[in-house]
Amino acid sequence: MKSLCEICEQSIYGPSYSCPQCHLYFHLDCVHLSKKVNHPCHSNHPLQLIAVESLTGGAEKFCISCLAAAEKFISHCSICNFSIWLICFKNPPPLVVEHTKTHKHPLNLFPKKMPFTCDVCGEEDDEMPYVCVLCAFLIHGACIYLPRVININRHDHRMSFTRHLGHGYLKCGVCHQSLSQYHGAYSCSVCPGYAAHLQRVVRNGVWDGVELEEIPDDTKYIAPFKVVGDDLIVHFSHGYHTLRLNKENVTHSNRWLQCDACMYPVGFQSIYVCDECGYVLH
Ligand SMILES: [Zn+2]
Ligand SMILES: [Zn+2]
Ligand SMILES: [Zn+2]
Ligand SMILES: [Zn+2]
Ligand SMILES: [Zn+2]
Ligand SMILES: [Zn+2]
Ligand SMILES: [Zn+2]
Ligand SMILES: [Zn+2]
Repeated sequence: MKSLCEICEQSIYGPSYSCPQCHLYFHLDCVHLSKKVNHPCHSNHPLQLIAVESLTGGAEKFCISCLAAAEKFISHCSICNFSIWLICFKNPPPLVVEHTKTHKHPLNLFPKKMPFTCDVCGEEDDEMPYVCVLCAFLIHGACIYLPRVININRHDHRMSFTRHLGHGYLKCGVCHQSLSQYHGAYSCSVCPGYAAHLQRVVRNGVWDGVELEEIPDDTKYIAPFKVVGDDLIVHFSHGYHTLRLNKENVTHSNRWLQCDACMYPVGFQSIYVCDECGYVLH
């Protein structure tokens, strides 16, 4: 088991500061973090590093990026009541994303929490959306890099990303709630009427994590890694160390971490990490 840093509450890889009497550990960069810093996600005022327990009244304890509650420290602006957890502070959502498969114009982060309906998945949320002002287009950060063709663990055929689902689909094959014809979904081209909600498929481990868009349907998929133990693999992109499946914190804190193989953010998927050097793979 890796030790957690006392400041950012994340695992420590490589060198750290420690207090042997109390068995406390600290990342080098967390120790050097200044108490007052400017951050691109909140350009108006400097953010202050403060203990969560010293936040009083209505001061925001939840991170604006991953929506999780920090337990120890958080970066906070007391003028606007803006809070970002240290893991998200270190891996902030990018201010601009260009991904023409999803939207033809660059998407800008709107750095304030607001209630909105995502134009891609159709789900309502209260978080920071990405926006294209030209098109009045709003999207979850998590919906920007959705895979296009996938296998899910409860249907025999491939499912394809469909931008506007259209008529003829009633209930989601995964959660059995109703589907919106105006929004996106994964649909099966073989079974009429079979479709599933986008986010519920990729977030809940229903998808096996492999993007099949470039892989023809008739070729047998050959895994690019060898299983060498329980939750342990050796991947061709990082042949010298064993990677461990990280099951903690998959839903929030890793969201904007970059995968070292494909360079996309890891989003809500499970990740493999190298305990030796912190290499991340999804
Ligand atoms: Zn730390
Ligand atoms: Zn966060
Ligand atoms: Zn502020
Ligand atoms: Zn969405
Ligand atoms: Zn646009
Ligand atoms: Zn569903
Ligand atoms: Zn089918
Ligand atoms: Zn390594």
